[in-house]
Amino acid sequence: LTERLQNAIGKLRRKGKVSETDVKEVMREIRLALLEADVNFQVVKDFVKTVRQRAVGAEVLESLTPAQQIVKIVNDELTKVMGEEAVTLEKAPKIPTIIMMVGLQGAGKTTTLGKLALKLKKEQNARPLLIAGDIYRPAAIDQLKIIGQNIDVPVFSLGTDISPVEIVRQGLIQAKEKKNDYVLIDTAGRLQVDEKLMNELSEIKQLAEPNEILLTVDAMTGQNAVEVAKGFNEQLNVTGVVLTKLDGDTRGGAALSIRAVTGKPIKFIGQGEKMTDLDVFYPDRMSSRILGMGDMLTLIEKAQQDFDQKKATEMQEKMRENTFDFNDFIDQMAQVQKMGPMEDIIKMIPGMANNPALKNLKVDPKDIEHLKAIVFSMTEKEREDPDLLNPSRRRRIAAGSGRPVQDVNRMIKQFNQMKKMMGKVSKGNFSGMEGMLGN
Ligand code: GDP
Ligand code: MG
Repeated sequence: LTERLQNAIGKLRRKGKVSETDVKEVMREIRLALLEADVNFQVVKDFVKTVRQRAVGAEVLESLTPAQQIVKIVNDELTKVMGEEAVTLEKAPKIPTIIMMVGLQGAGKTTTLGKLALKLKKEQNARPLLIAGDIYRPAAIDQLKIIGQNIDVPVFSLGTDISPVEIVRQGLIQAKEKKNDYVLIDTAGRLQVDEKLMNELSEIKQLAEPNEILLTVDAMTGQNAVEVAKGFNEQLNVTGVVLTKLDGDTRGGAALSIRAVTGKPIKFIGQGEKMTDLDVFYPDRMSSRILGMGDMLTLIEKAQQDFDQKKATEMQEKMRENTFDFNDFIDQMAQVQKMGPMEDIIKMIPGMANNPALKNLKVDPKDIEHLKAIVFSMTEKEREDPDLLNPSRRRRIAAGSGRPVQDVNRMIKQFNQMKKMMGKVSKGNFSGMEGMLGN
């Protein structure tokens, strides 16, 4: 898919001017790319029309090649369709804020509620209460209780003999007594949208008057996800969507369709089974993902803006000749720092975004300052010839830089890994990238 798109764009790249035929050809590829990413047919049709209009009458930006312009238009429009900005959760003027989770069986409601409760706890110091409103699925209550225990959040349940509406009613009373600031209601799902389920959910909605009704949708179900979203939204008028299981190899085309078909914002995405795997949804990131480019576009943009071209060529030369030394290491760090937070950059490399090893990666800018301090404590000779760094030199450098000797050792190890990795990257292989993270 991406390959096809890139071929079409590559062809354009070699041309000075774009003709209407060129645009047509690229648009055909983009249409296919979107369909393959599971975007709904009607949505693709409308989308392609908009882009074609913009592309033919293109505002010619001088700094961009025709190919880049088209990619940019596509990217802009995709982002626009998905709502441009991240949308946050509603908050009740008076506690508790009530969030009701709905969706088909297996979509990820119960898991997502746990993730959300944890997020609220961490980010807002919230004291949420979970209500176990799914009395049908075997062990659903236990599942929620276990999740509650793991994240240390109380769970209100009354077993399986009492109606969900009554459970919610009593749960809300308890939340008010205990002054919980958030109430998260878990509900039952079915394999299909059906009337009985919808009636029950409507009753809960009427009683609880939730501030948010979040629809959980499994991104892996592709086209079907759109139908499901439509069904739930018509019945319940949901306030937002959570797209789960985006850690799989789905392109996330469902995100585009759901937003376009329901008009409701996607608020969060689930990217794994762990309680920490819930992220705010950013339309611009998703649009690049749908196009299958990781965040490659942004990376290219940033690189072009910030990376001194001459330096880059020099660096490549050094990689090839394997003469990369500590002076280059520092240069490299400085360049990378200009591009933004390290963890963002690494995630933009195709194939890296979903690499589990990088899931919780955080690179502290202070760490880079420390690395610099260490290198600046080396003599010129040592910087050029890292093999000189024997234990006694390492101790001297540690003392000079005010860092523990373990830090010096770790940095030398990282340097060696980076050097090795660069050798690989210059041969077009990204797989050594993890080595750079020192784990
Ligand atoms: P429910 O029936 O809607 O309550 O769905 P559950 O919360 O029980 O989730 C069903 C399954 O999907 C469980 O095995 C979850 O661990 C899994 N799951 C939920 N969200 C995600 C996600 O974002 N990524 C992955 N890989 N699995 C998920
Ligand atoms: Mg459940």
